[in-house]
Amino acid sequence: MDSCDVLIVGGGPAGSSCAWGLRSSGLRVVVLDKARFPRNKVCGGWITPFVIKALEIDGEDYARGRTFQPITGFRISAIGQAEVNVPYSEPISYGIRRCEFDEYLLRRSGAHVCEGTAISKIERNGDGWIVNGKIKTRLLIGAGGHFCPVARFLGNNQEEEPVVAQETEFEMDEQQAGSCAIEEEVPELYFCRDLLGYGWCFRKGNFLNIGLGRLDQHGLPEHVSDFVRFLRAKRKIAFDLPQRMSGHAYLLYGRSPRKVVDDSLLLIGDSAGLAFLQSGEGIRPAVESGLMAAQVIKSANGGYTRDRLQAYGELLSKEYGKGKRRTSASRLPRKLRNAAGRMLLTTQWFCRRMVVESWFLRKSN
Ligand SMILES: Cc1cc2nc3c(=O)[nH]c(=O)nc-3n(C[C@H](O)[C@H](O)[C@H](O)COP(=O)(O)OP(=O)(O)OC[C@H]3O[C@@H](n4cnc5c(N)ncnc54)[C@H](O)[C@@H]3O)c2cc1C
Repeated sequence: MDSCDVLIVGGGPAGSSCAWGLRSSGLRVVVLDKARFPRNKVCGGWITPFVIKALEIDGEDYARGRTFQPITGFRISAIGQAEVNVPYSEPISYGIRRCEFDEYLLRRSGAHVCEGTAISKIERNGDGWIVNGKIKTRLLIGAGGHFCPVARFLGNNQEEEPVVAQETEFEMDEQQAGSCAIEEEVPELYFCRDLLGYGWCFRKGNFLNIGLGRLDQHGLPEHVSDFVRFLRAKRKIAFDLPQRMSGHAYLLYGRSPRKVVDDSLLLIGDSAGLAFLQSGEGIRPAVESGLMAAQVIKSANGGYTRDRLQAYGELLSKEYGKGKRRTSASRLPRKLRNAAGRMLLTTQWFCRRMVVESWFLRKSN
């Protein structure tokens, strides 16, 4: 039987960041993923500077042979309204392709990686675990995304309210690139008129990523089709999308809390339901939670009781528990609130200070 100290299920940004955080701990760390890398992940591929800094990524080195698109502003509107341009003098975010980014993080994590292996069975074994009947581990980390089997094993995934989203990413040919009105450094965000979600158009060199996510789980395909028709009518794109959209779901922190800690077990990233409420950003909390988990594991000195690991749950609440208070605006009738919201989305102040800096870049947190 193979054995390790820490078995991480899932080699996305959460799992690879946790493994990277443990790289000099002396612990034997294994990352197991059902996919073989490079693998794609349904995602817009927008990352904030926090991710680059926390993972000590050398942007120049990363950009060699990979897409690394600086973003120096956003163009923001509610669908059908005037657009507001919010420029900055330096990069405030970056665009990556998940097939490249996730593989890069996983390969440099320092862990032993088992690809093409799905987790199928989890059994308690004293104060540790036996996984798939053949890998013994002291500590099990669930990093398998929204449908993570370790999260399900803990009793999560019931009556939750996930964000549902669809996107497509493709390389434009010369003609498509020439007729695409989206600027590389300025992704465009289009809020749904009921403010329950937003669509995006994001150009990374010759790659174009278009998608839409909503809090409301009904009628997503119709919202997406309307959005694509709108983009064509506005001449943002002058061609039919060459491939169908792919969809996925994930949880926003605070909306459907999951149990994330148990004896010898932790959940990180989407498996723990940590994406940010207003922007839907999930890569940063995946990375951050992976690093927090690594920090707590190192300080636990081999004692992985729930009480000791609870320090991880406390770190999460401390970092993400802020900003959940109800504002007086949330007590207004929905119609009035939406009309006020759409009006604010036509102002430079609101788009810059609230949408970009507070919601997307979390500058006030
Ligand atoms: C349409 C859409 C657009 C998005 N756009 C953005 C964006 O632009 N920026 C942003 O920050 N966030 C975005 N997100 C959210 C972001 O994609 C996720 O929050 C992020 O990928 C979470 O990382 P993770 O490592 O927790 O999980 P994942 O990236 O989902 O990785 C989980 C890994 O676990 C593996 N796995 C799953 N089940 C098993 C199993 N049974 N056995 C073994 N391995 C398994 C999978 O193969 C996968 O590699 C978007 C989400 C969607 C749906």
